[in-house]
Amino acid sequence: MGRAILTIFLLTCLLIVWNVEAANGKQRYDNYGVYRIDIETQEQLALLQQLESTRNELRFLDYPAQVNMSVEVAVPPTNAKTMMELFNMHKMHTTLLTSNLQKVIDEERPVRRKKQGEFGWEDYYTLNEIYEWIDTMVQQYSTVLTVNSIGRTYENRDMKVIKLSYKSGNQAIFIEANIHAREWITSATVTWILNELLTSEEPRVRYLAENYDWYIVPVSNPDGFEYSHTTDRLWRKTRNQHNLLCYGTDPNRNFNFQWNNGGTSTTPCSDTYSGPEPESEVEVSNISNYVKSVAAGVKLFLSIHSRGQLILCPFGYSNAPRAHNYRDLMQIGQRASVDMYKVHNKPYRVGTTSDVLYVASGIAVDWAFAVGGIQLAYTFELRDQVEFGFILPAEQIVPNAQELLEGFIAIVDEAKVLGYM
Ligand SMILES: [Zn+2]
Repeated sequence: MGRAILTIFLLTCLLIVWNVEAANGKQRYDNYGVYRIDIETQEQLALLQQLESTRNELRFLDYPAQVNMSVEVAVPPTNAKTMMELFNMHKMHTTLLTSNLQKVIDEERPVRRKKQGEFGWEDYYTLNEIYEWIDTMVQQYSTVLTVNSIGRTYENRDMKVIKLSYKSGNQAIFIEANIHAREWITSATVTWILNELLTSEEPRVRYLAENYDWYIVPVSNPDGFEYSHTTDRLWRKTRNQHNLLCYGTDPNRNFNFQWNNGGTSTTPCSDTYSGPEPESEVEVSNISNYVKSVAAGVKLFLSIHSRGQLILCPFGYSNAPRAHNYRDLMQIGQRASVDMYKVHNKPYRVGTTSDVLYVASGIAVDWAFAVGGIQLAYTFELRDQVEFGFILPAEQIVPNAQELLEGFIAIVDEAKVLGYM
């Protein structure tokens, strides 16, 4: 058999009917191996893109956007042999990161859980638990804290935005987190930071809390987030259905700026499907409309993601020019990285999305910067680098949040030096 034919044969072997859900309705990942694959040639890239956007049982944890990047792929035991043959045939360099993904998922959360109704940061919480905590905090801090809905999701959930304001006339900081459903660490750290802004007595935190208004959307993709709790821990997209076979659009490829200009897929089964048109996702249009309504006062826009430990500034799309204030963006980002490292010795790399991560278009920060006119816009990719990926053990929530808060303090500090805030 020729190599091309053999490849097609092996690809067909992977096209087994999706073993949708186990008896309890939860997708399990028993004995799924997670491989890191280095993409070194165009041929390897094309093959991986084809695999990623086809309905099969593989779970790509990264989109194969370009040559000279690595992607992590979860491979079910039934596909392991076929995948090894494909890896070998196409001379792909791979590393096995774990041989049982379900074990990593099982160990993510503490054995002893808090009682119902109690909130904290030793564990991950559901959308309802987060929303209830917010409502409690709003009651308790009613003079400075307000909560609103910026609109409803596709499945009719509220998208809550919290506004913290100690005095009128403040410049504002806007944070959206957890737009990718499985990135639980992002809403966990952001709620911890909100709590610090309200309760900390440290002068630097008090300064930040009282001299800036904070708009926080802690869960920017509530449908996907809920689904990642109830059904599939690795769910990333929205839950809208644009195709008979597959659900969801990648909301962070759906913003209306340079839409579909690199690092996206036009295939609905892909995890980076950019949607049928910009802002096809109501969650994205809700965020865009709300940001536009407050943008005049917003000096800093932050998009919180995981993982990889990166601080990314505009732009991410193909062959993008440098932002007009690229040097300032880099200087401020590097200051954040230096200060974050001092907290728990975790390195964060700084650069544009396309330089440091990979090409990606239709993303929130690029939109906020170019369309929203917010001159400082960063994506944070939180912990970790390789060990746990998206399934970060809950005991890392507080340390990760501590270093993120330090990053916020540093950004504001350096932005003031440069005259942005
Ligand atoms: Zn993300």
